[in-house]
Amino acid sequence: MKLLEADLLFDGEDWQKDIRLEIDNSGRVVRCLPAQGGVTRYRVVIPGFVNSHSHCFQRAMAGFAEISFEGKNSFWGWRERMYGLVGGLSEQDFFKICRFFMAENLQSGYTTLTEFHYFHHEANGLPRVPRDLLCLHLIENAKRAGIRLTLLPVLYMLGGFGKTALKEQQAFLMNSVADYLEFLDGLSPKNSDSFLCGMAIHSLRAVSHEALKELFSNTTHQKIPIHIHIAEQELEVLECQKFYGKRPVEWLLQNLPVNEQWSLIHATHVNALELSGMACKNVVAGLCPITEANLGDGVFPLRDWFDWNGKISIGSDSNIRLDPFEELRMLEYGQRLLYKSRCVAADRTQNSTGTRLIKSLYRGSSQSSGFKVGGLKVSDMADFIVLDANHPSVIHPEPETLWDRLIFSGSKEMIQDVFVGGVQVVSQGKHQDYHDALEGFSEVLLGR
Ligand SMILES: [Zn+2]
Repeated sequence: MKLLEADLLFDGEDWQKDIRLEIDNSGRVVRCLPAQGGVTRYRVVIPGFVNSHSHCFQRAMAGFAEISFEGKNSFWGWRERMYGLVGGLSEQDFFKICRFFMAENLQSGYTTLTEFHYFHHEANGLPRVPRDLLCLHLIENAKRAGIRLTLLPVLYMLGGFGKTALKEQQAFLMNSVADYLEFLDGLSPKNSDSFLCGMAIHSLRAVSHEALKELFSNTTHQKIPIHIHIAEQELEVLECQKFYGKRPVEWLLQNLPVNEQWSLIHATHVNALELSGMACKNVVAGLCPITEANLGDGVFPLRDWFDWNGKISIGSDSNIRLDPFEELRMLEYGQRLLYKSRCVAADRTQNSTGTRLIKSLYRGSSQSSGFKVGGLKVSDMADFIVLDANHPSVIHPEPETLWDRLIFSGSKEMIQDVFVGGVQVVSQGKHQDYHDALEGFSEVLLGR
């Protein structure tokens, strides 16, 4: 049993003052009661964040795709550069990126990583030995770093609506749905309190209707997180309308058993009807504001989604930046630029913009990861961040505006200590493996 106390602790819904948490040996909160003294006491404590959408290997191209090429300055041009990265990465490079990335996530306040993993094979499509080798690298490094991992091996079969895959996509492909299910079967026995194997469909453009019907005709998908890239680009929406006669979210809701297990990643281009359908199915809107801005995707209609009391999660996606506070700030600022208004996420029931954002985020994060995280109440996993009480954005711990200050004037630099399941993994802003892992990551960058 572990005990801690805090002057101010956010439990996922409200700030609690002078509180004690009891954490059992499995890393869960088992009791919350008034502080009594005599144990370690912190000033300001918040739940850890879930990085709900990431492609780990893309960390190695952060900042390397900002050179302009005429006619290629779109998402699709960026994608070509990403294919180039895949062609140049060895399995050892992938291992080194994973090791660094896990430590960097924890230092950034992400205590759970949901990895949308489609880089399976050699660049020419030859399977690795064992064929889930890169998944094993992710699992091993997550375990070593102490981060919770929801791994989503991705089903990817086509190069576009009704099109065979390109040569550059060979590293991502599964031969059949049966092949994919066998792949999942190999990983699922590893499920534990800190690892969960879920399921991901790359996109409607990468998997046919027949394959999806086959996928959902068996029971593997029951009760695990299911993620999909759904409507990131306007061109994708147009192609879907041409091929299926429906918009992506519209088609998805009408044709697949969508429920609260689902996270719709980049539901950027949705209309009012699709948004209401998403809310009725209780899905999470998986948003990646920094990447969506970087790739010029567009702006998700957050105000309308909040009118439906919709849940959100955030992900670092292309990993150009790792900072949950910055993701939320970018999310709100995108809305302000769109509507030419301030405090867009706030409403009459919650007039603090930051608090409204964070409450929706913590609710969605737990649902999208499949772990009981994003809160510090009884039965939640004890994943939490201790903030530096002397940071200018944390000083003056008045709860009413604290989330506003953290999100709009703060950054991950406020993070002092990080705990996962009650175990300390970051101390004074640093993960113990960070410097060694950085050496390996530097070798990858310098070798390219
Ligand atoms: Zn993605």
